Amino acid sequence: MAGPGPLSYSSYRTYLECPLRWKYLYIERRPELPRGYFTFGRVVHSVLEELVRPLVVPAARRRDGPETQTTLRDWADPSAAEGAPARRPPVGPEELLRLYDEHWSSEGYVSRDEEERYRALGRELLLRYRERLALEPPSPVAVEEHLEATWEGLPVHGYVDRIDQTPDGGLEVVDYKTTRELSADDAASSEQLSVYQVLVEKNYRAPVERLTLLHLRSLTPLRAAPRGARTLESLHQRMGEVADGIREEAYEPTPGRHCLRCDFRGICPEFRPIPTEEGPRLAALVDRFDALRADERRLERELSQTAGELHRAAEELGLHRVPGSRAVAVRRKEVAWQYPLEVVRPILERSGADARLSADSAEDVRRLLRDPAVPGEVRRKLAATGSRQVRWFWELEDADPAAR
Ligand code: SF4
Repeated sequence: MAGPGPLSYSSYRTYLECPLRWKYLYIERRPELPRGYFTFGRVVHSVLEELVRPLVVPAARRRDGPETQTTLRDWADPSAAEGAPARRPPVGPEELLRLYDEHWSSEGYVSRDEEERYRALGRELLLRYRERLALEPPSPVAVEEHLEATWEGLPVHGYVDRIDQTPDGGLEVVDYKTTRELSADDAASSEQLSVYQVLVEKNYRAPVERLTLLHLRSLTPLRAAPRGARTLESLHQRMGEVADGIREEAYEPTPGRHCLRCDFRGICPEFRPIPTEEGPRLAALVDRFDALRADERRLERELSQTAGELHRAAEELGLHRVPGSRAVAVRRKEVAWQYPLEVVRPILERSGADARLSADSAEDVRRLLRDPAVPGEVRRKLAATGSRQVRWFWELEDADPAAR
């Protein structure tokens, strides 16, 4: 069995979306067609790396660094105001545009027009960002840093766009985004930032204080607090499951909307072409299946309407058994109790009782209600959250031939 190797965020996402596409990319190393927006993002990232690198204080504060570490404070420029760090200012606008031209690549754009639009956007976005850097220089301790870590037994790695020192001596993880739209929710829910948080925490001594998506089109930093233990635990579990799938060589195709932008449709078994001679026969079977499915939906609607009418009539007349010409319809009642778990769980947590008192289903709550070991007060509160659900349904019994 193949060892999965360290898992990156993008490898994890790819596997989650479609394990077979992961295999094509990461095992068989099949190339994908270049796409303009990816090329654009790559070029902008490279130029930003060069733009920000002069501001970097050498990799201070690494866990594997020497005990006497250099910090931003130690890098004071003798010619600058006392305590100011000795950092070179970012390059000027002409130099920046020269760098941009050097890095530019025409790969993947669908037309000359599209390429020019992206190129102009990049120029504008980088010049504005340079101005912002000159006015409010960040305190980066690393740019485009490759980090590796073993996270509770799971090897992970990734390239972090930038790590800044915060005024409180903590660290801010910054990820550049060239996308059109981005919101604060994206920063709060980004799993990519969560993985970076783990990588930085495992490699640096200072704590991660902020996770930031830097929206380059608007120069807006979208900041979120570092993830808590519970969020990281559940991400670790999902990533662990992906690593298990890779170790077990589970590469099932998982089709979906993402297939529209998959370059491997031509070789994917999900999209294997039908042999010409089999086409008409299989098409007829599909049409028949489709027609039967439509009948099934129509019959289900009719069945539900008829049962409803029968129920209303039986209610009016107080009946439970209604004979037909071939069978007797018998009305049955099913009672179920519902307990909203979002209300139940805080009651159990606040009760301070041991871990045995947990509930993942209505059946668990019913068990707790019957358990004499559960304090009476807790049982009363749990019982008060319940609501009784009644469902009526009909069953058919053979009619008694003698009664016909
Ligand atoms: S076409 Fe769809 S199912 Fe096939 S490999 Fe690509 S993403 Fe997976």
